[in-house]
Amino acid sequence: MAASVLIVEDEVILGKELARSLQRMGYTIAGRVTSGEKALAQVVELQPDLVLMDIVLTGSMNGIEAADRIRTLCDVPIIYLTAHTEAEVLERARATEPYAYLAKPYTEEQLRTTVYIALYKHKMQKRIEESERKFRLLFENTPLGYQALDEKGHIIEVNKAWLELFGYSRDEVLGKWFGNFLGPGQQDLFVKGYSRLMATGRIRGAELKVATKTGTTLYATIDGLATYDDDGRFTQSHCIIRDDTDRKQAEIALQRQNEYLSTIMESVTNPFYIVNAHDYSVVRANTAAQSKGVVEQSTCHYTTHGRAEPCDDRDFPCPVRELVRTAAPTTVQHIHYGVDGQPRNIEVHAYPIVDGRGKVSQIIEYCLDVTERKRVEEDRHRLATAIEQSADSVVITDSQGTIQYVNPAFERLTGYARDEVVGRNPRILKSGKQSAAFYSQLWKTLSAGRVWRGRLVNKTRDGRLVEEDATISPVMDASGKIVNYVAVKHDVTTEVQLQKQLVQAQKMESIGTLAGGIAHDFNNLLQVVVGYTAMLLMDKDENHPDGEALAAIRQAAHDGAGLIKGLLTFSRKVEYYPRPVNLNQEVKRVYKILPRMIPKMIDVQMRLADGLRPINADPNQFEQILLNLAVNAHQAMPGGGTLTIETANVTLDEYYCKLHLDAAPGDHVRLTISDTGVGMDREVLEHIFEPFFTTKEPGVGTGLGLATVFGLIKTHQGHITCESEPAVGTSFNLYFPAIQRPSKLEVPVRETPPVGGTETLMLVDDDAKVRGFVKNLLVRAGYTVLTAPDGVEALEVFKERGSEISLVILDFIMPKMSGAECLRKLLEIDPHAKVLIASGYTARGKDRELMENASRGILSKPYDAPGLLGAVRKALDEGDKVVH
Ligand code: ADP
Ligand code: MG
Repeated sequence: MAASVLIVEDEVILGKELARSLQRMGYTIAGRVTSGEKALAQVVELQPDLVLMDIVLTGSMNGIEAADRIRTLCDVPIIYLTAHTEAEVLERARATEPYAYLAKPYTEEQLRTTVYIALYKHKMQKRIEESERKFRLLFENTPLGYQALDEKGHIIEVNKAWLELFGYSRDEVLGKWFGNFLGPGQQDLFVKGYSRLMATGRIRGAELKVATKTGTTLYATIDGLATYDDDGRFTQSHCIIRDDTDRKQAEIALQRQNEYLSTIMESVTNPFYIVNAHDYSVVRANTAAQSKGVVEQSTCHYTTHGRAEPCDDRDFPCPVRELVRTAAPTTVQHIHYGVDGQPRNIEVHAYPIVDGRGKVSQIIEYCLDVTERKRVEEDRHRLATAIEQSADSVVITDSQGTIQYVNPAFERLTGYARDEVVGRNPRILKSGKQSAAFYSQLWKTLSAGRVWRGRLVNKTRDGRLVEEDATISPVMDASGKIVNYVAVKHDVTTEVQLQKQLVQAQKMESIGTLAGGIAHDFNNLLQVVVGYTAMLLMDKDENHPDGEALAAIRQAAHDGAGLIKGLLTFSRKVEYYPRPVNLNQEVKRVYKILPRMIPKMIDVQMRLADGLRPINADPNQFEQILLNLAVNAHQAMPGGGTLTIETANVTLDEYYCKLHLDAAPGDHVRLTISDTGVGMDREVLEHIFEPFFTTKEPGVGTGLGLATVFGLIKTHQGHITCESEPAVGTSFNLYFPAIQRPSKLEVPVRETPPVGGTETLMLVDDDAKVRGFVKNLLVRAGYTVLTAPDGVEALEVFKERGSEISLVILDFIMPKMSGAECLRKLLEIDPHAKVLIASGYTARGKDRELMENASRGILSKPYDAPGLLGAVRKALDEGDKVVH
């Protein structure tokens, strides 16, 4: 649309001309007026795009005044038309800011150009104004604060938002240093930041605390730009200020929360950390977790990467995977290798953190090092096992002495089950063997907090007495108060018993050696007495005055021989001819002769076992055993009673043999002889088997009865025990080993009539008196007798005159060369040599074999004349073994 022009020209012709020119140029003429007043009226009404104003107008208002008024009415560009060029007029006209001057007279071309430029300029002006207006609008209404500062930082301009932010009015801030509006301590920051802005031309995200007029501090973020003039000099800065207080406060709150969490995590001295549930990456961990290297081996890492267990394996029941699935807290134990490389037992408590959708997003893990706890548990277990397995009994009581615990060894030893004794007092074991003073001493020691050690005799559930080496210790709590007593007791019953048996056995052994030695020598002396007495008596007739004396001597010697025989039996130096026998038959045989020795008022009972195993026994000796015991029983029952003889098959086990030193395990036959007599006390019991131990009046007992029994039983490879209770009775148990296979039958004793002969005999005996007596006897009986005091001489004589010698009578016990050795050498010289062995004791082993096999007979000392003569004759005639 063509621009419309209002022409204000008081000269009508000129005005018309002008209008025509403009129309030609394509403009429309809004109107043509001739005065200023009319122009004012028309301009409002016609709203022209341009006013051509003649400065000089007729009427009261000139062109300049009119233009000035028009300016206030509307925004329309004005071009002055003037012929005047006075400086004063032009000066006034300029004040009204005309778009151009067109000096009269102007050419059409000038008019065209001027109008065009004026319209263009106005159009541009309008655009600028519009843009300015928009900018202003924006500037004023933006929620972001804006400030422009000069090179010193003084405020040139701020917008409304800025003022609202700071709480000041514009007047209060313009020209002021921006630093004045900052919080304490922020000025330096501002100065530094501002110089950077000036230098670099830009600043971003600078944070400053600003102070509002009301005194509150706000957190502001500032972005800024610098502008420079054509010479590159800084002109001013333009900054946008954002109030970030809310964000900042949230940030601070978050940071606080974080610190709070950190403090909590750090306050835990055990490893404590959080991992992501999807990849197990560590979100955060406390120092303990980091320093102990736990994070690298957390449960998740452990289970996923499998340090100890391969958790890649889908089948592995990974507790953490389970936790992620179920969102239920879990506890896992695993081995963790600490920074020192040592394995530790770690207990990991894992808790799920569930997100808004109910899924486990993270896992909190808290680690406890339970190595020590485990070790203590294991120690305790080991200890408990040790106590449970211990062979010694262990009893634990409370401070009152009430039993709280006993171990299986206690149960075994006492026969009480744990349930029976827990809650009771150990008093139940009291045997009465310890005095009240003994117990009070024990308690005195314990209550003083000291350990008591000593030997106790206690009673088992079935009344057996057990001897125990006990150590009782008080257990104190941290304050030193006694809370428990622990007793450890070692059963020494067996040891004590064995010890006693050992002492007893050694005693018996040495007594045996002693008695045997004496008996041997004494026997030789008796031999002389018996021999010469017999010789003297042989010569005398019945009425000879010495007859009685000699008979008395013979009787005394005979009795002495009886005693010696007892001693020799005790020391096992008697002949022993065992053969397989049935003990029941032997008992029955003796039973028949019992009434001769035992009065009727004693009732003899027999209980003989069926199918009794055979034993090897010498029937004569067995008879002696039984008689000796029966006599003792009789003597123990002066007012009558019962004597019981009992046999049984028994098998002795290892355990029994452990308790009886002289017993060997295996099948045995037991003979029990019991009486209901006076019995014995312990003191007597300890000595009964010793020779010459008797409690009886002189003349009644010799003290050799049981010694003999002892020796005989030993000879039979058996053993004997005795149980006795004063006023109740006594019971002897005799054990004989049962025969496994029958042994060679022994030749029984045979009587031979006393006869003499004319052969030459050699008598070998170290004892000169015996040599004298025997030689005398043999010579009287018609023999020629050569003698030798020892084996060496005997061999010499035999070498010289062996052909003459029909029989050698050889003593087996001799100095220099033993009888056995001599016998061997004799047989070397003449394998057919006849030898009769005379001996006071029973040889064993090889010697025994030799005696039996190589000799023509054995003659036991002391022997009497008929015995000797008979044996000599027999040996000479038959060459059979002859035993006397
Ligand atoms: P003696 O009978 O000659 O005294 P023993 O050797 O036979 O000698 O016995 C030794 C002691 O053993 C006896 O004195 C007696 O005290 C005791 N004794 C032996 N057998 C019995 C018994 N059956 N009852 C009680 N005491 C006995
Ligand atoms: Mg006796």
